[in-house]
Amino acid sequence: MSATRKRILIVGGVAGGASCAARARRLCETCEIVVFERGPHVSFANCGLPYFVGDVIQSEASLLVATPVLFQDRFNIQVQTETEVIRIDRGGKFIEVRDLKSGDARIEPYDALVLATGAQPIRPPLPGIDLPGIYVLRTIPDSRKVKAAVANASRAVLVGGGFIGLEMAENLVHRGLEVTLLELADQVLPPLDPEMAAYAARRLRTNGVNLRLGEGVEAFAKRPDGLVTVRTSRGKTIDTDLVILGIGVKPESSLARVAGLELGALGGIRVDEFMRTSDPAIWAVGDVVEVKNRVTQEWQLVPLAGPANRQGRIAATAIIHGSQEDESAGSPPMTFDGILGTAICAVFGLTVAATGASEKLLRRAGINDYQRVYLHPGHHASYFPGAKPTHIKLVFSTSEGRILGAQAAGEADVARRIDVIATAMMKGATVYDLEDLELCYAPQFGAAKDPVNVAGMVAANHLRGDLPLADWAELERVEALLVDVRTEAEYHTGHIPNAQNIPLESLRGRLGELPKNREIWLVCGVGQRAYYAIRTLMQNGFRVKVLSGGMHTYQTWSDATDHLERPT
Ligand SMILES: Cc1cc2nc3c(=O)[nH]c(=O)nc-3n(C[C@H](O)[C@H](O)[C@H](O)COP(=O)(O)OP(=O)(O)OC[C@H]3O[C@@H](n4cnc5c(N)ncnc54)[C@H](O)[C@@H]3O)c2cc1C
Repeated sequence: MSATRKRILIVGGVAGGASCAARARRLCETCEIVVFERGPHVSFANCGLPYFVGDVIQSEASLLVATPVLFQDRFNIQVQTETEVIRIDRGGKFIEVRDLKSGDARIEPYDALVLATGAQPIRPPLPGIDLPGIYVLRTIPDSRKVKAAVANASRAVLVGGGFIGLEMAENLVHRGLEVTLLELADQVLPPLDPEMAAYAARRLRTNGVNLRLGEGVEAFAKRPDGLVTVRTSRGKTIDTDLVILGIGVKPESSLARVAGLELGALGGIRVDEFMRTSDPAIWAVGDVVEVKNRVTQEWQLVPLAGPANRQGRIAATAIIHGSQEDESAGSPPMTFDGILGTAICAVFGLTVAATGASEKLLRRAGINDYQRVYLHPGHHASYFPGAKPTHIKLVFSTSEGRILGAQAAGEADVARRIDVIATAMMKGATVYDLEDLELCYAPQFGAAKDPVNVAGMVAANHLRGDLPLADWAELERVEALLVDVRTEAEYHTGHIPNAQNIPLESLRGRLGELPKNREIWLVCGVGQRAYYAIRTLMQNGFRVKVLSGGMHTYQTWSDATDHLERPT
């Protein structure tokens, strides 16, 4: 087959499939490109669905990024909707497809095949799971059903505290519903560490969401009056008008499995850096593939739209140009070199974002050579009106200072800070690089030391030995003397049990009150005054550590770990 007359077939026409098709056309004017999509729409905005249900996006048409007609007219790409691919014959290099309207099946030969079949929501085999009133949210038809149900509802139960569960909670509250959110784990937002996810949990609760952590669903039943009864793992029952399941997705890899393509242990299709499967004529992109985590080097499923789109471009490029360097331009081959899992979510005005590995992920991967710092700088200069705190956790390797991950929560500019760190991480940056980043500043936009710089400085100070850090997890067992260096007034608004108050301003005059034969742990509001204090104390021969992030972090540790006492 001539390279210029390839027949490229793409299964699935949303994020990965649509971007692969469009890129293939841009690179090859003579190729025949056909997209098969089981559903009624291509290239629609799944990510907008919660906001469509919430009426933030009012017109369904706004969710359609492109239509089959646009694909045909603008790109000369044939899109066949409501057409399911039911079999791959690798030896014969053809697929069997079925027209879902007529039921007719036919054979379609290919030179290159791309599987962009995505993922499907998990529906656990619980009693009553198929009862009416229990929904998932993946497609436009799904969202229509949920939206219709919401119109006649006053109560909803959301199962699962991931990104979609949280977005739905906000949207349903805005629609006037009483919302219960059940999450089996002891935190929401699984990609984050518990103490950072606690910011989102608190925000949900203060906005009226009945958040029940550590409580899953065991069964559903239908009542005679039409309500659904949800029985929880704690033996409680909740009567509700509707239930939305948001407990994750699993890769739609059955076509690949039946065709004998290599799958990973997590059920996703295994691909190389060109998105090629174990069959050299078949590529796979998007939620259906397993990806290597850039930090842990472990295989993962990361169902996000950005990677799906980029992988679609990479597969198209490899199909048209092969896996070679573009020698004419001298540019490197386009490859997918792993994932950071950069993700973001907003809930009732709070933005939560993360990139790289959480501590949970590092521990699971057996990586222990890491440290963490917490900080809470304003999103812009504090003297300019309206500064909002940005709560940041930075995780980095002890040996080299390489950034391993970052998580942040706040009301403004959170995305920018995480995006900067993600960009730095893509280049293998260290905390010393973050200290040194030159970022834009005017008082309404940032600070002369941007929060990202400050994160680097705190971490680098720690690694240089200027700022020894205490471990929050050790707080309960610690034999060190706890010293709170905030003002007396602040101390009396709430403090860690047994902490002694020596305000920073009086510290130099009260050194005689402090022991030299016992470790001292310092805490303040956010960590800055404790840093000033530790520099004084270290230079006077005391053994000192700082509780990173101060009382702000204490609050979230307390929220995340019930066993810690709250400030009085
Ligand atoms: C409610 C919601 C909100 C989201 N919000 C965000 C967000 O804010 N940010 C973010 O990064 N990601 C978000 N995502 C995830 C993001 O939408 C997905 O990661 C992305 O759509 C994956 O693209 P994909 O092409 O791999 O798969 P999909 O978008 O799932 O598309 C796969 C398509 O393949 C079709 N298909 C499957 N099998 C066959 C077959 N045998 N024959 C024909 N067609 C087939 C399916 O019908 C489907 O339309 C959200 C997802 C949902 C559901």
